[in-house]
Amino acid sequence: MSSRKILVTSALPYANGSIHLGHLVEYIQTDIWTRFQKMQGHTVHYVCADDTHGTPIMLRAEKEGITPEALIDGVHKEHRADFDGFLVEFDNYYSTNSGENKTLSQGIYKALKANDKIATKTIEQFYDPVKNMFLPDRFIKGECPKCHAKDQYGDSCESCGATYNPTELIEAYSAVSGAAPIRKETEHHFFKLSECEDFLKEWTQSCTAQGKTLQGEAANKMGEWFESGLKDWDISRDAPYFGFEIPDAPGKYFYVWLDAPIGYMASFKNLCDKNGLDFDEYWKAGSDTELYHFIGKDILYFHALFWPATLEYSGYRTPTQVFAHGFLTVNGEKMSKSRGTFITARSYLDHIKNPEYLRYYYAAKLNSTMEDIDLNLEDFTARVNSDLVGKYINIASRTAGFINKHFDGKLNPSRNNAVVAELKAAADAIAASYVAREYGKALREIMRLSDLANSFVADKAPWVMAKQEGREAVLQEVCSDALEMFRLLTLYLKPVLPKLAMEIEAFLNVDAMQWSHVDASLNAEHTINKYNHLITRVDPKAIAAMVDSNKENLEKSEAVAALVKEEVAGDYINIDDFTKVDLRIAHIVNAEYVEGADKLLKLTLDIGEEKTRQVFAGIKSSYDPETLKGRKTVMVANLAPRKMKFGMSEGMVLAASDGRGGPFILSPDSGAQAGMAVK
Ligand SMILES: [Zn+2]
Repeated sequence: MSSRKILVTSALPYANGSIHLGHLVEYIQTDIWTRFQKMQGHTVHYVCADDTHGTPIMLRAEKEGITPEALIDGVHKEHRADFDGFLVEFDNYYSTNSGENKTLSQGIYKALKANDKIATKTIEQFYDPVKNMFLPDRFIKGECPKCHAKDQYGDSCESCGATYNPTELIEAYSAVSGAAPIRKETEHHFFKLSECEDFLKEWTQSCTAQGKTLQGEAANKMGEWFESGLKDWDISRDAPYFGFEIPDAPGKYFYVWLDAPIGYMASFKNLCDKNGLDFDEYWKAGSDTELYHFIGKDILYFHALFWPATLEYSGYRTPTQVFAHGFLTVNGEKMSKSRGTFITARSYLDHIKNPEYLRYYYAAKLNSTMEDIDLNLEDFTARVNSDLVGKYINIASRTAGFINKHFDGKLNPSRNNAVVAELKAAADAIAASYVAREYGKALREIMRLSDLANSFVADKAPWVMAKQEGREAVLQEVCSDALEMFRLLTLYLKPVLPKLAMEIEAFLNVDAMQWSHVDASLNAEHTINKYNHLITRVDPKAIAAMVDSNKENLEKSEAVAALVKEEVAGDYINIDDFTKVDLRIAHIVNAEYVEGADKLLKLTLDIGEEKTRQVFAGIKSSYDPETLKGRKTVMVANLAPRKMKFGMSEGMVLAASDGRGGPFILSPDSGAQAGMAVK
């Protein structure tokens, strides 16, 4: 087999939050694939970076009173430590806020412009009159124009997957201040995606020597997008914005999604400069190296339309294949902070400690489709304990001791062990499963082989032989054969369990395993080192503690409440009394007059629940309903519903009043979101 040159990426995590177990599905999936390809003897570079630009970073830094650079530096360190903790071995982990990325992004923009693929248009955009800034995509929320799901972002709907312009949202509001945005004209730069349709139609259906460029289900999704027509892509944002300024347009910045995938190139460029690699060999149009992107299915649009078109029309090569995967559910449900299943990478490492349990479990669940995978915590414990401890490690733990004790570590295997032969014969099928990202299939086969090896050991019962006179030679042979089986299984599992494999290489006294070592053998006279315990069982108590630590501080505030309770008396209420009142930030979706009511307005309130609440509030004397729409206020969410003459009232809105005037409803500070608890 000739050595291939392969560049692999995982999607860039946003520098605005911690890595959690959902993110890790992708990094572990990519890392296993990359390690497998390296074991094949190919030249493989695995690069990634933090995605650092955009409004969320800018606003979070502002809120924390630090510069965006300081914010992304801190997050970068945290992300790196988390990836290291899970044995995700990047060849380079960089940042999109780099000189390389700026140069590449500006160069690509200029090339697109020279190719007549950039247009400028004056558009009307939402503007936050309180915060004095244009509101890009994610900071406008409202109702999806296609499926009418509430609280959707300005660029795409999480409910139906539709993409649209923020101006198409129904009942839009600013997520920064809660104010109803006004429309304001501004000049924007567009990438003429509509002119790339012929190229993209061909590309999304293309096939290389390595297989289809897109998975079947992804190609079908593209077909739907072509049918609804490709729109030109708005690639600019107005100041204030944290990002790269557009070369010929002062005050205009590249939209974060333009420079984020270019971050793949920039990270690789940085690696090239450090290691003397040839950047152009991997990226220039016509390159015969291979380029693979692992992504979540939610960013398919960017990677299968914008990205290849950007590359094609700026003189670069397009990806060999794009691999999209599904999302993670925990215990069959969406990850949830209140249930404690929104588990951070760090809390897993603190409680469970061994990252290879999770790598193994994810691998056992992963296949090449875009289906979601489920982390069932009970099944996780059972499967890791039964497969890794009960089956795989058991082979060594039941045989190595005899070799150490009776034969001074020396092996003497048989010539033709049928089980060893069957294990060796499985190598190609297992390799094919890894290549195809059918890790679950690979592991099922490896566990079937582990069962064969265990049956062999159980049949021969070396622990009985060891007590019988004159059976030393057979004992040595049986245990040697079992350890050869263990060596093969370790080799097959090495992409998934790299740290354990290294420890076993040291114990077996063999070189770092490559896939070609399937054909090698532990020969007579080979000496192994002393066997030490390699792995422990998953402790269900550690799982429970991890889930507990991820629960939002509900219990902690209860403990504080209990302490405070002892100290109050008289006319005070205690904290318990206060916390009985469930106060929430409510977004006023609609406000209208009620026919026949002289004091009441009918409000439709979004408090982050599936359905909106209907509340009748006695504020008609102070407010024109039109001015309330889009505002945020505070409501009592757990007041018993009350049947009124005009309908059900499902809560109460707080307002101030006395002889001096009112009622005046309350407004939260900017940043408060619908559904947040007020406490
Ligand atoms: Zn929708």
